[in-house]
Amino acid sequence: MTEGCIFCRIIAGEIPGDFVFQDSEIVAFRDAHPVATTHILIVPRKHVGSVQELEEEDVGLVGRMVLRARRLAEQEGIGERGYRLVVNCGVEGGQVVPHLHLHLIGGRKLRDSLG
Ligand code: 5GP
Ligand code: ZN
Repeated sequence: MTEGCIFCRIIAGEIPGDFVFQDSEIVAFRDAHPVATTHILIVPRKHVGSVQELEEEDVGLVGRMVLRARRLAEQEGIGERGYRLVVNCGVEGGQVVPHLHLHLIGGRKLRDSLG
């Protein structure tokens, strides 16, 4: 748990989260300000600040985060329709919460633009 980190506090149960998945390594909860019908954040329990802080030992974790996103997309009924996975990194990448997370966004036709 990293002091002052909002996602660490959600994972610890100090702040409520609308969880859709939890295991020993990864949690997933609905974004507080969804941009589409499905907007889920896939988050490692371990505090990693951003992609910039990832190490070789985290390769398996990141792979399992992506696979979890796919399973959650299927649970949400959007696996076949399509969805977007987004990881913002750093200030210019638009990262607001400095605890690594993968956005799963879908349920409508998303804009083509990425930036
Ligand atoms: P970022 O811009 O860092 O990639 O995305 C952070 C996301 O976390 C935003 O989409 C924002 O709506 C969401 N968020 C921020 N604070 C909270 C919170 O307390 N609870 C939940 N569920 N989502 C949050
Ligand atoms: Zn954290």
